[in-house]
Amino acid sequence: MNILVTGGAGFIGSNFIYYMLEKYKDYRIVCLDKLTYAGNLSTLKKAFENPNFRFVKGDIADREFVFNLFEEEKFDVVVNFAAESHVDRSIEDPGIFLKTNVMGTQVLMDASREFGVKRFHQVSTDEVYGDLPLDRPDLFFTEETPIHTSSPYSASKAAADLLALGYYRTYKLPVTISRCSNNYGPYHFPEKLIPLMIIRALNDQSLPVYGDGKNVRDWLYVEDHCLAIDLIIHSGRVGEVYNIGGHNERTNLEVVKTILKELGKSEKLITYVKDRPGHDLRYAIDPTKIKNELGWEPKTGFEDGIKKTIKWYLDNKEWWEEIISGEYKNYYEKMYGNR
Ligand code: NAD
Repeated sequence: MNILVTGGAGFIGSNFIYYMLEKYKDYRIVCLDKLTYAGNLSTLKKAFENPNFRFVKGDIADREFVFNLFEEEKFDVVVNFAAESHVDRSIEDPGIFLKTNVMGTQVLMDASREFGVKRFHQVSTDEVYGDLPLDRPDLFFTEETPIHTSSPYSASKAAADLLALGYYRTYKLPVTISRCSNNYGPYHFPEKLIPLMIIRALNDQSLPVYGDGKNVRDWLYVEDHCLAIDLIIHSGRVGEVYNIGGHNERTNLEVVKTILKELGKSEKLITYVKDRPGHDLRYAIDPTKIKNELGWEPKTGFEDGIKKTIKWYLDNKEWWEEIISGEYKNYYEKMYGNR
């Protein structure tokens, strides 16, 4: 099996590459990544030691380049993680989100049609469903929940999902889509909530929490997301959407306090900052379909997962120290000021 993993130098894609190389010793994995600010070759350092792994630098929206790669590699499966993924950045500059997340997906699907790919898997997000009210803990997103986006990021992901379903219906491209809740774990870029808080707490810096910190997210350990995608690409039904989530709902403030407790740091480090415009209140996934159809169950609960994640950041300082000293430093200061 020859699998193209796009966006594999980012957070979830890299975890997926390690998971697949470990589990399927006879699969070949090709990673295509543009290496934007969010992609780091140091993340794939160990994958380069594996002869079944190839890295190609390139843009999924570059049609000629993508078609040449497909012609050369004859992929069986494509798993599309490549995306601009940060909501705050999409509010600053939506254009690149449309180019990569929508047009890039289209280019990959056109190439998949042209070269007879047997499965095109689109990695999507629960953010396409919008948000749920905080006072209705009985409500969850199912695959039938209407698309109702709140940010340029989620709108671009929803557009790609709809395009993928259109390609299935019109061209019979064998498409599957997964919509996952918030992931956390190793190699998570330090602009996202959990790594940001771990790293800043380690350095005794203030922890910026949006609004009152009451927004709820449903957290999933990244390896459980990889397992779900593995099951979907092997046994999922084409033309179907699968929601992935582990019923680990926490307010942002609870997450931050758990991290501070684990690190033995004071809650005085918490600083409340002006809320993000259009900030979604609550996300919560109903994963019944993937459980019933594919037997997927998350293996790591939040308490264990957060301990493992903190340990990983403690053991891998070199990885994140390099990142936070670069372009990211300017971005952080622009967003939160020089705290
Ligand atoms: P990330 O930002 O860490 O990584 C994205 C990767 O895509 C980077 O390596 C980047 O260099 C690459 N990339 C960006 N534009 C590209 C382009 N034009 N061509 C080729 N490569 C390009 O993102 P992530 O958090 O790992 O998310 C991966 C996917 O999973 C995204 O599609 C995202 O929407 C989805 N998702 C993420 C979460 C989450 O909690 N992080 C939850 C659900 C779904």
